[in-house]
Amino acid sequence: MKPDPNLSLEAIVDEPLRFDFEVPFTVDELAREQLVGISPAQIAGEVARVEGGFSLSARLSWAGKLECSRCLASYDFSYEEDFSLVLYPRKTIAEAELSLDKDDLDAYYYDEPIVPIAPIVEERIQIAIPMKPLCREDCRGLCPQCGSDRNVSECNCVVEFIDPRWRALQLLKKG
Ligand SMILES: [Zn+2]
Ligand SMILES: [Zn+2]
Repeated sequence: MKPDPNLSLEAIVDEPLRFDFEVPFTVDELAREQLVGISPAQIAGEVARVEGGFSLSARLSWAGKLECSRCLASYDFSYEEDFSLVLYPRKTIAEAELSLDKDDLDAYYYDEPIVPIAPIVEERIQIAIPMKPLCREDCRGLCPQCGSDRNVSECNCVVEFIDPRWRALQLLKKG
């Protein structure tokens, strides 16, 4: 097995460290019901020394299969983003909190100067997976009565029954 890709921060002096990694994930690791397939993520970018830590900027891309929350069909999904983070050693959290906004979401704290890239990538992927994926904007979903896919064929179920006389009354009121 290849060692997990990581960033050796101590090796960075004047020049930024450039990196380009392929990070594999499994659907089980990511543990998201709506994710049914994933290809290795690609991440490339650079890390440079900054005041009190390191700045990382990278381009991340990955592709997977999601299950539509309406019709339950799986469909291809691909994602690409540019992002940046500031890496701080954990021991200076107290100092960092003094000078930084507490809600600085783009800060990442590390324990060792050899930072594995997988947890950083995983966090980005978790954020990018939609809570309610849709195979398409106007997916019509499944019929709640017979379960047939309404994108494929129209069934004859009457899902909501409204007495026609009552309906006429409602229309009158509105008019
Ligand atoms: Zn759908
Ligand atoms: Zn039906």
